[in-house]
Amino acid sequence: MSQFKYLIIGGGMTADAAVEGIRDLDASGAIGLIGAEPDAPYNRPPLSKGLWKGEAVDSIWRKNIDRGVALNLGRKAVALDPRTKTVTDDRGAAYQYEKLLLATGASPRRLPFDKSSSTDPGASSGTSPVIYYRTLRDYKSLHALTARKRRFAVIGGGFIGWEVAAALVMNGREVVMFFPEETIGARIYPAELGRFLNQFYTEKGARVIARSQVVGLDKVGEATRIHTQNHGDFEVDAVVAGVGVLPETALAQAAGLAIDNGIVVDEFLRTSEPHIYAAGDVANFPNPVLGRRMRVEHEDNANSMGRAAGRCMAGAAEGYTHLPFFYSDLFDQGYEAVGELDPRLEIVTDWKEPNREGVIYYMREGRVRGVLLWNIFGQVEEATRLIAAPGPFRAAELKGRLPRAA
Ligand code: NAP
Repeated sequence: MSQFKYLIIGGGMTADAAVEGIRDLDASGAIGLIGAEPDAPYNRPPLSKGLWKGEAVDSIWRKNIDRGVALNLGRKAVALDPRTKTVTDDRGAAYQYEKLLLATGASPRRLPFDKSSSTDPGASSGTSPVIYYRTLRDYKSLHALTARKRRFAVIGGGFIGWEVAAALVMNGREVVMFFPEETIGARIYPAELGRFLNQFYTEKGARVIARSQVVGLDKVGEATRIHTQNHGDFEVDAVVAGVGVLPETALAQAAGLAIDNGIVVDEFLRTSEPHIYAAGDVANFPNPVLGRRMRVEHEDNANSMGRAAGRCMAGAAEGYTHLPFFYSDLFDQGYEAVGELDPRLEIVTDWKEPNREGVIYYMREGRVRGVLLWNIFGQVEEATRLIAAPGPFRAAELKGRLPRAA
């Protein structure tokens, strides 16, 4: 049985950041990692952004993993016994640890009618005709298809949907987007900005089919026929979906850890078993700035929480108090954002140029809960300060407040 002072389950950005955190404080403690993907940790954001704009695939690899980590890739941890502090993987190998980090992330949700036995593009049979876009392997599959195919369907109007649709259009492909909501990004953008985005994507060349529900797919020779509930059928050459993700909690749940929309951790990122930590997409953590628990599926949280977890595992008594930010690209538009972006909150817009440059505040009871910095960069700290401030704020007081001169 392999023995480690620190064992990490998961091989993504959180895992790599945790190694950095451990090595901040412990230069030589043995670290082991079990990762289901065949690839070593890499940066995920370029898969739907930079790699489609000419960035080299080799630029995505993470570096901390080279700091003395025993990698066990292409393996899934299938059992965890907190009492004996052992983990077993799907090839029967056992690992003993002193401190364990669950950085198991999240897996793409599948379309409800898709009963294929596999979503792995490398599988020999039974593979879904849909690429549920998340991994480097998915990027490689889609990229290879763009060389041979012309017509692409993108299902889902969230982050993957709008980023992948833009990437494909920018690479000269025909794209038709399907999503059930009224607008692109309806879960986070106010309706007016969402309507602008529908129009903007259409002008860029995508076909935007809002309020559409895809109910089935058929292979027709090399092509795929898409059936929608209320907009008829469409024939395409390839289908990509981003219909949300589900936190990978099964191992933790079977081990008896507390689960509630993810693995529940305290401010030191400890689960209900104090020697087991969780971080990244899978962790439900308390945030003191917003004064509530949250689970965040974005890069900054993976990096900052992963590092914090590594430091805590190596003995630091530091709470994780960071409010993670996120960002996205939509063709030549981009933004940074922080806090609760819920369009059901009270919306205060402060446009310098409507839908092109400005700030959107998401308010509740006189407090700023979230800030969207549309084509404004380097203001996340100021925005976070506003969210932390007790207020109360009136709309007129917020106008002109950001961007703040350096
Ligand atoms: P997402 O942003 O949660 O969006 C999923 C979208 O799919 C939602 O609009 C959802 O609508 C819709 N949907 C759900 N079931 C559907 C169905 N059967 N048919 C059509 N649409 C359906 O998730 P994602 O785009 O799949 O992205 C996956 C994860 O990667 C997310 O956690 C995201 O934050 C992360 N990511 C982040 C970035 C970034 O930070 N820039 C970039 C890429 C990915 P309902 O909400 O109404 O169910």
